[in-house]
Amino acid sequence: MVVTGVVLIALALAVVVLAPRVLTRSAWTIDRPRTALVCWSVAVLLGVVGFVAGITLLVVANRPITDPMGFGGSPTHGLNVGVALLAVLAFVIAVRVRPGPEHEAVREAMRSGAAPHREIDGTPVSVLEADHALACAVPGRAGGVLVSTGLADRLRTDELEAVVAHERAHLTQRHAVAVGIAESIERAVPWIPGARAMARSTRVLVEFAAASSAVGHMVMAP
Ligand SMILES: [Zn+2]
Repeated sequence: MVVTGVVLIALALAVVVLAPRVLTRSAWTIDRPRTALVCWSVAVLLGVVGFVAGITLLVVANRPITDPMGFGGSPTHGLNVGVALLAVLAFVIAVRVRPGPEHEAVREAMRSGAAPHREIDGTPVSVLEADHALACAVPGRAGGVLVSTGLADRLRTDELEAVVAHERAHLTQRHAVAVGIAESIERAVPWIPGARAMARSTRVLVEFAAASSAVGHMVMAP
């Protein structure tokens, strides 16, 4: 059990060290951004599950089946396990996805009717009266694609459709969730280089993924 635990921890560490190297330096991730995003998720899962399972095996190793955590043997052991569980809980709370406050103003504009709907390329789009060029995808039930009149007036129809296709891809592929989870992990464990690499890489990969979904329109929007 001790050997299995050590092997699991070693494998988890190998994933945490190697995944960022493979996934940030490989050219294929640009051609297959959605596959790369899935690889990041799998790497996180393997790293966390391997580490937790390995530690658990080391803790319960050589303890009787009836009392695997060894509560009976040591009065302080239960306290230690409790503190460890609290630490895991605190980590889970720290990495939970927080709604982006930056979306609130846009959401309010869509809710209040300040941005009336218009159908562009089969997608209902909120059009905000504003001179500057703006396009964004607002996640959530009250969200959607929003463009400004300043942008719509400057673009040809096919260009505007490409921008809408790009923003729609952000919504349908739930890119806000992917970026939110990656950035939450980065906030929770900023001292792990892989966590920072994953957040940076995820922000870029979702743009490539949205751009590849808008192919045919041949426009890349932010
Ligand atoms: Zn984008």
